[in-house]
Amino acid sequence: MKTSHIVAATVGTIAIASIGCALYFDAKRRSDPNFRRKLKKERKRAQKQAKEDEQKNVTRTAQSIEDALANIDENEFPTSMEDREKFCMDQLSTGEALFTQGPAGYDASAICFYKALKVYPAPAELVMVYQKTIPPEVFTLVMGMLSMDVHKKQQKYYTVFPPAEMNVKVEEMPEGNTAEGQKVIRRGLVATRDFAAGETIYSETPIISSLEPSLEGNEFCHYCMKQIAEGVIIAPCPTCTKVVFCSEACERSASTEFHTVLCTNDSEDTSRPELALYNYTKETNNKYPEMIAKFLVRMVHEETQNTGEEYNLFDHIERLRFLEVRPSVAEEKEIELLKTTLGSRIPGIEEFINEERYLTLKGKLLYNAYGLSTSLDPERSVEPSPEQFRSVHDAPVVGAGFYRVSSYMSHSCRPNTKLAFAEHSNNMSVVATTDIKAGEELHVGFIDQKNGTLSTEQRRQELFQHYRFKCMCPLCEKPE
Ligand SMILES: [Zn+2]
Ligand SMILES: [Zn+2]
Ligand SMILES: [Zn+2]
Repeated sequence: MKTSHIVAATVGTIAIASIGCALYFDAKRRSDPNFRRKLKKERKRAQKQAKEDEQKNVTRTAQSIEDALANIDENEFPTSMEDREKFCMDQLSTGEALFTQGPAGYDASAICFYKALKVYPAPAELVMVYQKTIPPEVFTLVMGMLSMDVHKKQQKYYTVFPPAEMNVKVEEMPEGNTAEGQKVIRRGLVATRDFAAGETIYSETPIISSLEPSLEGNEFCHYCMKQIAEGVIIAPCPTCTKVVFCSEACERSASTEFHTVLCTNDSEDTSRPELALYNYTKETNNKYPEMIAKFLVRMVHEETQNTGEEYNLFDHIERLRFLEVRPSVAEEKEIELLKTTLGSRIPGIEEFINEERYLTLKGKLLYNAYGLSTSLDPERSVEPSPEQFRSVHDAPVVGAGFYRVSSYMSHSCRPNTKLAFAEHSNNMSVVATTDIKAGEELHVGFIDQKNGTLSTEQRRQELFQHYRFKCMCPLCEKPE
């Protein structure tokens, strides 16, 4: 790979991985004149230096990059924001002092710039500054380290996720060839031990979920989607009467993760963006724009928490498949609504919510979301939403949830698992419907087969229309 390619690829990856960070620190960065001045000064000095060094050709091997990385102790990076900022400034000034000594200081200088990058909240932007300010040899080395680091983190993802106690792993499997003869690989979920029919394989709570808009009010919990049983004391939102919670714990979680930002505060002023988003959801019966808003707020919240998790929400959803969504007038309106609703509360988010990102997020929901059957009444009728979700419709669907692990399950018209909502909440269990051996792929039904009355042609047509794949499951390949 040419250096320029490494740089392009790396910057792309970082830009995605650090989006949350970029949002959170945007305000801080803007208000830090010292940091700006320092970068400017550095740039000038480095330009001079870069010219002097231009003719020198320093070759860096992958081994020297590897050695440099091996010398970095992950534990030396501070955790608090103030400490990280100080650490970053120290590394930048040491790095600068080192490269002004000439080529002998390049290796050590690159390590400093690399460390600064590791703690700087908007690394993609800092990379751009580096590109203009530090000697090309040092820059190449920093990018090499970064590229290897990102690669390692990416490689490692499926070895630590899903967590071992969930009894499943994500595996790549061949799925035929393209017309040009290239192998097609897809990812699927595989059991890591044997299961007997009826056993629960794992349970998980969603990244984000939403009720069908027609059910939002005082009957279902706005956080866990539980139907509130008669006689149970509900926990109201302290600032609005538009949503309720089944417990104080749900109220607190919703408030910290997203509701404080999205609450209408019972305002009747329709120019208020939170109310406009709420009304849009109710009027169109579309919950995905609200789910995307919740996701974005939760993502920013996570970034500010310093949870110590190696992979953030964005790392988790980045790898998931998505449907291509073509921009339309409706989407344009939704993007605008989200920008105004979140913009006043989260500095920098307006630039983040661009058309491409919004449509990708929507495409991820359309492809991966599951219908939630948490109603206590199995006969309950619910106004159908125009948005699709994976569901076999054996119980009324009251909302949709977006899950980290279950999104990897592939469809089969004769699946070996089914979904259960044992606690009548969005904590979803995947239950074996046949005996499953370790190493076997887990399948779930994406569509309602109307008690087996659909023909292969009809099933394939519906799956293609909604999920854009031709079903090659055993039932479709060998119809009885
Ligand atoms: Zn609840
Ligand atoms: Zn509220
Ligand atoms: Zn099929």
